[in-house]
Amino acid sequence: MSRFQGRVAIVTGAASGIGKEIALRLAAEGGIPVIADLNLDAAGKTAAEIKAKGGDAFAVAMNVTDEAEVEKGVADTIAKYGKIDILVSNAGIQIVKPLVDFPFADWKKLLAIHLDGAFLTTKACLKHMYKAKYGRVVYMGSVHSKEASKLKAPYVTAKHGLIGLSKVLAKEGAEFNVSSNVVCPGFVRTPLVDKQIPEQAAELKISEADVIKNVMLKDTVDGQFTTTDDVADAVLFYAAARNTVHSGQSAVVSHGWFMQ
Ligand code: NAD
Repeated sequence: MSRFQGRVAIVTGAASGIGKEIALRLAAEGGIPVIADLNLDAAGKTAAEIKAKGGDAFAVAMNVTDEAEVEKGVADTIAKYGKIDILVSNAGIQIVKPLVDFPFADWKKLLAIHLDGAFLTTKACLKHMYKAKYGRVVYMGSVHSKEASKLKAPYVTAKHGLIGLSKVLAKEGAEFNVSSNVVCPGFVRTPLVDKQIPEQAAELKISEADVIKNVMLKDTVDGQFTTTDDVADAVLFYAAARNTVHSGQSAVVSHGWFMQ
């Protein structure tokens, strides 16, 4: 039997990039991903792609910073499937600027998507997971959950924060068989990273090729980008956990950029 047969998994930010790959991979193993994204059109396309391959998926419009939208997406999922087994809190953005010039509005926007989004989706799903005595929660962290880089003050702050949230959930959730983990990727070529390459080149006054070689991949063991499949492997490992043995841990998936 497939690892995720019949498992209902809300994946935020699953219309694009890493979240989309996670949704496709869950569906390929029998799971039912709920594609929860700001961009409903793109979410619908991901769901259609899964259905075209014979799987099931459900697209919902959700701004993860909006409590009412999060509650509605979760309620619609419960109305359709009656349960939520897995939450992958993945939606995120990046804004790069030096700390000294960082607009307060951008700081608040980034923290809200990463941290309020993780909190609100977790809270909404937990009620159902606790009742069912089953839940697997995976947060999308980053090497920036462990390490800092210039120009990324709110991102590094938020990604470190997710580790704290995950550890609290590991402690509170255990008696309900709810586990919590963070997956921490290195640089992955998604729209989020493609946008940063010219921005960082301009900020650091170096070429785009130098940003890739000497900033993004400088400390990897093999000069390779992490792939969406690399990240999905780790997320699915935690999402399939048989019990809470791994709960509270985080995994760095970065071609050796950061070694724990
Ligand atoms: P992406 O831009 O390809 O996809 C992000 C998705 O999130 C988009 O579909 C977007 O519509 C959605 N989204 C944005 N704001 C939202 C909101 N408020 N509510 C709901 N959905 C929203 O980005 P990605 O690279 O796939 O990033 C996904 C996650 O992985 C993020 O948390 C990011 O920080 C993390 N991450 C990415 C990398 C990387 O190198 N790409 C590395 C480490 C961690």
